[in-house]
Amino acid sequence: MDKLIAQKAKALLKEPKKIVIIGHKNPDGDAIGSCLGLGFFLKNEGHDVQVIMPNDFPEFLKWLPGCESIIVHEKETDKSKDLIDSAEIIFTLDFNAFNRTGDIAPFLEKSKAEFILIDHHQQPDDYAKVIFSDTSMSSTAEMVFHFIDALEGKKSITSEIATLLYTGIMTDTGSFRFPSTTAITHRVIADLIDAGAINYSIHEGIYDSNSEDRMHLLGVALKNLEILPEYNTAYITMSQKELDDNNFKKGDTEGFVNYALSIKGIVLAIIFIENKQENIVKMSLRSKGEFSVNNLARKYYNGGGHTNAAGGRSEKSLSETISEFITILPNYKNELTNED
Ligand code: 5GP
Ligand code: MN
Repeated sequence: MDKLIAQKAKALLKEPKKIVIIGHKNPDGDAIGSCLGLGFFLKNEGHDVQVIMPNDFPEFLKWLPGCESIIVHEKETDKSKDLIDSAEIIFTLDFNAFNRTGDIAPFLEKSKAEFILIDHHQQPDDYAKVIFSDTSMSSTAEMVFHFIDALEGKKSITSEIATLLYTGIMTDTGSFRFPSTTAITHRVIADLIDAGAINYSIHEGIYDSNSEDRMHLLGVALKNLEILPEYNTAYITMSQKELDDNNFKKGDTEGFVNYALSIKGIVLAIIFIENKQENIVKMSLRSKGEFSVNNLARKYYNGGGHTNAAGGRSEKSLSETISEFITILPNYKNELTNED
């Protein structure tokens, strides 16, 4: 972490402050792990800290230390508004544009707090006094570790903090296998295990908590898998009815898109998930190599993310979204077929 950025953060955190830490809408393991991990650290340093999420988070994260203290804006809007209004410092973690926080965005726009941004997504907006943005990082949780280290706090990493940061790194790296996983990532993981993260328990907590319904839903997803060999592309669709028939719960479809990407030769994989409540089709995009799903999601799907993992949405119906997607693909034929 750049020394100048660390100095700015240190100066802001010299005295006890009223701090709010916010993650993105539909929080994942990295958002929850990095926000709660940083939260514990700052609390132990004497600050008044509250973690707020725009909406609820999946069941498989609900065992994480401190998760019961999170305020979910959608459920406790007045409390969340008051906390944001009175905050002196607002950390925004694992996103870099206010619109990623959904209904919280207008309150962030109005806020007089100093913002500290810690994030690894591309193209950050310019709203923060302290910007720690690094797209080469595996996860925001790894960045929080470097942030704590820059504040000379490594010795203050408790087993709770270690568990949370380990979870964020593990979930964002596909268990340490994506290209963003570096030797430094593994050194950070070693430090976290030394500090009390129990690696096998965390893996079990996250990955061995499937419900029978989720397994049936996975069966439907795999049945719906379509391959477009001329574009090295595979996609999965999930209709609202299929979700309802299998008692869908938040988080149940997480990771399904990776099955499409795991097919030999596939460069681009997408899952399209119908959401009748919001009247949108939500999509998760994944790629191998140079092909940028961030660019694709930004251009066509009002989204973004990283080169190899991004998200977006369409306001068309599920079938129209798929037809449109198929008409977009020829624009990328060269990029999709020139990969190694
Ligand atoms: P997922 O497909 O797992 O929801 O998200 C993959 C990556 O893209 C994550 O880093 C996530 O933060 C980002 N992402 C997901 N949805 C959106 C979106 O609508 N807009 C932007 N800018 N990023 C997104
Ligand atoms: Mn992340």
